Amino acid sequence: MNAAVDPDPSPPEAPAVVLGAGYAGLAVAQGIRRRSRQRIPVVLVDRNPVHVLRTQLYEVGKLAATGEDTDPWVVPLAETLEGSAVEFRQGSVEQVDLAQRSVTLDSGTVRFRALVIGLGNVAAYYGVPGAAANTHQVYRLSGAKKFAGELREVERASGTLSGERRPRIVIVGGGSTGTELAAEIATTDWRPIAGAGARPPEVVLVTGALPFLAGFPSSVVDRARRALVRAGVTIVAGWNVARVDPGRVTLEDGTVLACAAAVWCAGLEAPPPVRALPVPHGRAGRVAVEPTLEVPGHPGTFVVGDAAEVRDPRTGALVPSTAQAALAEARVAARNLVARWNGAPLAPFVYQERGVVVALGLGQAAGALRKVPIWGSPAAVLKRIVQRDYAHAVERGEPPTLI
Ligand SMILES: Cc1cc2nc3c(=O)[nH]c(=O)nc-3n(C[C@H](O)[C@H](O)[C@H](O)COP(=O)(O)OP(=O)(O)OC[C@H]3O[C@@H](n4cnc5c(N)ncnc54)[C@H](O)[C@@H]3O)c2cc1C
Repeated sequence: MNAAVDPDPSPPEAPAVVLGAGYAGLAVAQGIRRRSRQRIPVVLVDRNPVHVLRTQLYEVGKLAATGEDTDPWVVPLAETLEGSAVEFRQGSVEQVDLAQRSVTLDSGTVRFRALVIGLGNVAAYYGVPGAAANTHQVYRLSGAKKFAGELREVERASGTLSGERRPRIVIVGGGSTGTELAAEIATTDWRPIAGAGARPPEVVLVTGALPFLAGFPSSVVDRARRALVRAGVTIVAGWNVARVDPGRVTLEDGTVLACAAAVWCAGLEAPPPVRALPVPHGRAGRVAVEPTLEVPGHPGTFVVGDAAEVRDPRTGALVPSTAQAALAEARVAARNLVARWNGAPLAPFVYQERGVVVALGLGQAAGALRKVPIWGSPAAVLKRIVQRDYAHAVERGEPPTLI
């Protein structure tokens, strides 16, 4: 655990390279600079020149209202990295060669002496026919923007529907993203966005074979279910989606849900460059890392955030794929990379969840803070404050935290 990084075959002056400027990667890059007292050179790679505030992407009503303006959901990396001496390199990661210590980007090659992979995840479609082609997703900024634009169009056209008909939006996936999205769409007042004739959408949440909000405390599950029902959301449970065609979601029991738009919130998997690594993988292609967050057999290479499968060494339980966990992992990965660089001992990652809060629309939320239930507007205000403080810390280049 305490051998220094062997500089071969990378040049001795090669930097520590961090792939992905999301919650985990950005915090690691800045953490390495701080912890090494600016001695370790750091190159941060991302395909976008902005840090995306991904935890807010369910707010499609707001996105629809602001049109093309996504400023509230991004922080320019030039702003947050100013003065940190972290070098930013824009490019899409195509391949990581751990043996040669090099990363192939669409814009060239980067050599590294130590590496942190924080490339997040992508939607997993589980081979469901038509799902990738015929559904939207809000996992990425581009997807959320596109869906918000479509919703606006669907709502504008809703005034032309006959009788009492309303446009139906089907959301697939009863986890926190699907729940927050369903509540958001069902409670947004679409009239100022889509015109006085707009009719509110009918929202159907397909939770599939998994329990609704699986893994959340029962107090959160109960409150969220009640809030969705109050907002007029129909919850369809028990059957997974069998196929998706344009304007039609078919369940395994043969039920056909005609819809104006469908959104896939049913799951995530590691992105292709992570899946392709010849290292131990856990669920959904995530890299099964050591307790120190290092890749087994590759000292000096770490995986953090949603791309990593991390187990709590005390309980053996999987650490959740959340921004909160990503930030906690980032602190330990930065510490351990500096230790590895200097030949010092590494420390294990131990996860302490502070809380969870699920937004339920209309300024309401439900959650648990250090296992104590919180709900209603105090929970929603807390979530808003935590997100705002995170964004402010990122803008100022300070160490961010998040519950
Ligand atoms: C709608 C929504 C709401 C959420 N709400 C919460 C919440 O309330 N609380 C919470 O804790 N978590 C929440 N999460 C989960 C949280 O967003 C993720 O766990 C978190 O983003 C993981 O951080 P990460 O750094 O691993 O990945 P990301 O933040 O996704 O960052 C990955 C980075 O890698 C870059 N990248 C990916 N592939 C490539 C490539 N090939 N080349 C170059 N760059 C690449 C991306 O551009 C991105 O900047 C939410 C997620 C969603 C989608």
